[in-house]
Amino acid sequence: MEFSKLNEKHLRKLRSMVSEDRFSTGESNLDLHSQDQSRHPPSKPEAVMWPVDRREVSEILSYANEHRIPVTGWGSGTSLEGNPIPVSRGVVLDFTLMNQILSIRESDFQADVEPGVLYRDLNDKLRHSGLFFPPDPGAGATIGGMIANNASGTRTVRYGSTRANVIRLTVVIAGGEILELGSRSSKTASGYDLINCFIGSEGTLGLVVEATVRLRGLPEAFSAVIATFPSVEKAGEAVFEIIRSGLDPAALELLAQECIALINEEKNFALEVSPTLFMEFHGATTGQLEETMEMVREICQAQGCTDFRPGVGRKERDQLWAARHELGEMIVRKHPDRSHTVIDVAVPISAYPEIIALAREESRRIGIPGYTFSHAGDGNLHLVFMGKKGDPEEWVRIEKANERMVKKALEMGGTATGEHGVGLGKRKFMPMEHGASLEWMKKIKALFDPNGILNPGKIF
Ligand SMILES: Cc1cc2nc3c(=O)[nH]c(=O)nc-3n(C[C@H](O)[C@H](O)[C@H](O)COP(=O)(O)OP(=O)(O)OC[C@H]3O[C@@H](n4cnc5c(N)ncnc54)[C@H](O)[C@@H]3O)c2cc1C
Repeated sequence: MEFSKLNEKHLRKLRSMVSEDRFSTGESNLDLHSQDQSRHPPSKPEAVMWPVDRREVSEILSYANEHRIPVTGWGSGTSLEGNPIPVSRGVVLDFTLMNQILSIRESDFQADVEPGVLYRDLNDKLRHSGLFFPPDPGAGATIGGMIANNASGTRTVRYGSTRANVIRLTVVIAGGEILELGSRSSKTASGYDLINCFIGSEGTLGLVVEATVRLRGLPEAFSAVIATFPSVEKAGEAVFEIIRSGLDPAALELLAQECIALINEEKNFALEVSPTLFMEFHGATTGQLEETMEMVREICQAQGCTDFRPGVGRKERDQLWAARHELGEMIVRKHPDRSHTVIDVAVPISAYPEIIALAREESRRIGIPGYTFSHAGDGNLHLVFMGKKGDPEEWVRIEKANERMVKKALEMGGTATGEHGVGLGKRKFMPMEHGASLEWMKKIKALFDPNGILNPGKIF
């Protein structure tokens, strides 16, 4: 695609579409919008704009489409695959000022939000209602960015990814047209499911300006468990058995020993340095939970569990989940002279023990600091490698390991990316994963964005 470089006329016109303080070509703002949390090289946009409503977004997109100016949406910039990096430059639309929670309808278990709302702010607001919005990617993500990446988190095993928790969207497509997708009904059989085309499209089909999200009831009773195992493989087998038994965990995370050691070091915990499952179960009554706990204990013991600690209290539970959410940042802090790449494959749950064993083998084989942790209940594995900055040979080895892992996951019927999205880093796996259907994805892209101005260079 041929794009226009912004000239004085473009800049003047775009500037006139928002108030003076919401348009910038200043170096620090361009820098701030040139890079996400990945190691992909930065690329500065030519201008940053902060829209406050759908009318402004529509006007900007209409003009950009007419003049072939690339436009990339921006939430908090916490992506891990270069998803919001404006590689073709143009304009970044930063949604942080569209941060209103428009309505909370407790009796419908729904909220209408603008895209710049942080999911944590929504949950803070809901704190006294007995409801919550379950997807929790951990970082300071916006709901717009989560929708675009179809983000997941520790609660996905029970409550689904962002996709399962969004029922209506208002989007603006490239020509500036505003579309309403989905409905406020909890189910529909009406027509093509366009909303699910936009969720996970990384801002390449249109920009989200409003969403209706599902809220869930906070459980009456919960039980948090820490279980340690002699090997990651044994912990992986326990994960499979727990899911197979239909015990329906609300969270089921696996952390290899190097992750536990790091959490102990940073948070002053005294966890046993062994492969560990952090689990949480929700139930209507404590009696029901006690029965579940007994079954979980039996499954873990059958896999040689060395320590099984149920009944972790609320305070400790919150601290553990906070530590789990911070793990990515801890790993980065531990290796200031290195940068990271995150393998993010996901497989059907029966293949989980095998893929986790392969991750350990890769870690041993390439001899570069690696950390294995996993949204295990979803069959989604992260293997973070910390490669030396400026050492191309190390990065070739890491990329080879990444390729082997993805190839194996695809052979198992899985995916190259369980939750971080394609962005820049996973593009090369798209033909292998999707075959002929990739061409149909490109046709869908061309329908909504014929000039290819929306987040160019991503996914394909
Ligand atoms: C420490 C750490 C831990 C993480 N853990 C997880 C995890 O457990 N699970 C997980 O899924 N992710 C995780 N992530 C990745 C990241 O937080 C998620 O992908 C998140 O959804 C990104 O949200 P954001 O607001 O930062 O979006 P950004 O990074 O700003 O943008 C993400 C994508 O959305 C597009 N976009 C932004 N706003 C809009 C809009 N209004 N309309 C259309 N497109 C838009 C952008 O162009 C880009 O393609 C983690 C990241 C970090 C740094």
